[in-house]
Amino acid sequence: MPAFVPPNRLLLGPGPSAVPARVLQATAQPTIGHLDPAFIGMMDELNDLVRYAMQTENHCTLTISGPGSAGMEACIGNLVEAGDTVVVCRNGVFGERMRQLVIRAGATAIAVDQTWGEPIDPVALDQALREHPEASLVAFVHAETSTGVLNDAEQLARIADEHGCLSVMDCVASVGGVPVRIDEWGIDAAYTGSQKCLACPPGLAPATFGPRAIERIQARKTPTASWMFDISELTRYWSGGARRNYHHTAPVNALYGLHEALVLLREEGLDASWKRHGSVSSLACSGLADLGLQLTVNEAHRAPQLLVVQVPHGVDDAQFRRQLLDVEGIEIGGGLGPGAGKVWRIGLMGHGAREANVERLLGAMSRQFDALGLQGIERAS
Ligand SMILES: *Cc1c(COP(=O)(O)O)cnc(C)c1O
Repeated sequence: MPAFVPPNRLLLGPGPSAVPARVLQATAQPTIGHLDPAFIGMMDELNDLVRYAMQTENHCTLTISGPGSAGMEACIGNLVEAGDTVVVCRNGVFGERMRQLVIRAGATAIAVDQTWGEPIDPVALDQALREHPEASLVAFVHAETSTGVLNDAEQLARIADEHGCLSVMDCVASVGGVPVRIDEWGIDAAYTGSQKCLACPPGLAPATFGPRAIERIQARKTPTASWMFDISELTRYWSGGARRNYHHTAPVNALYGLHEALVLLREEGLDASWKRHGSVSSLACSGLADLGLQLTVNEAHRAPQLLVVQVPHGVDDAQFRRQLLDVEGIEIGGGLGPGAGKVWRIGLMGHGAREANVERLLGAMSRQFDALGLQGIERAS
C-alpha cells in the first residue's frame, strides 16, 4: 500500500489551522527519550513559552497530552468534586461540553444561559451566584468557536471572585489570537489547544493552574478520577527537574512542534500577533459583506479569529463547502448544534490569519457563487 499523502489544503475553518513549515520540520526531528536530560530541558523551556503565551507566572503551567478537550477534562476533573456546585456559562457547544464534564464529575451544574451569538450577560452570572452561594467554581469559554462570540473573560472572572468562587476558562481558540491575560484577569485555571491560534498540529493542550487552584486540588477529599489527567501527578512529571518521574510517555515529536510554534509566536510578539488577527479579520469582514454574506455576531462581541456568516438562501451548505474543498482546495467549517446547515465558520487563526488567505478565500467563494448562478441574488440581498 502506498504511503498516505495528504492533499494540499488551505485550512480556514475552526481548526486545525495552517501549520508553518518550521513547525512541521521541528516535529520531523529524531525522537529522543522523554526522560533524556535534553528533552527535560526542552520541556522546561516549553513551560516558559506557555507562560508567555498565556501571560501568567503560574508555577503550575504544563502541556496536557491530548487535544483541547483533554485540557478541559484536566481542569474540570481536578477542580470539581462530587457534591460541588459549579456555575457554567453556556452560550455555545463548548460551554455545554464543560457542563457535561461537571455533571460527570458528580457535581451540580447551574447553567447561565445566553442566546447563541450573544455574549454571556455578567448580570446573569452575578444573579446565579447570588442564588447559589454554595457554588465554588465558575466555568466559562473565552472565544466560543461554535458561535464566533468573544465573552468578556475579565469581567466574568471578577464576578466569580466577588462571590468567593474560583474561575476556569476555556481559551482554546483565543490564546495567540486575542489578548488573554491569565494573571491580570485573576483566572485560576485555564487550558488552550495547539491547533487554533498557536498554529501547531492538533493533539496538545497547554494549561495553567494558579495558587488557589493548586490549594483546592491539594485539599480534595478524593483523588481525581482520571489518573492520566491528575494534575498532582502531572506536576511531578512536568516540573520535577532532574527528579522527574515517569508518569506517561509525553508525545515527544508533537512537543518539538509546539515548542517551535511558541518560539515563532514569541518572535512575532503577542501584541503583533493580536494586531495581525484583528486587521486580517477586518479585511475579511468587509470582503464577506461585499459578497452579500451576513455576519451573525455583532462587531462588539465578535471573535476576530472565527467569523460566522449565514449560509445564503438557495445555497446547499454541505455541497458548497465540498465544492470549495474540491475545486479551490479551501476548508471552511459548517455550523455546530443549532447552527448546523445554517452558518459557515471561517477561521483566521494563527499562521492562517494572512491577507493573502483572505483574498484567496473571497475570490474562491465569489467564483463558486458564480458557478451556482447566485452572485446577482446575493449582491441584491
Ligand atoms: C476547538 C475547541 C475545543 C476543543 O478542542 P479539541 O482540540 O477539538 O478537543 C474546546 N473549546 C473551544 C473553544 C474550541 O475552539
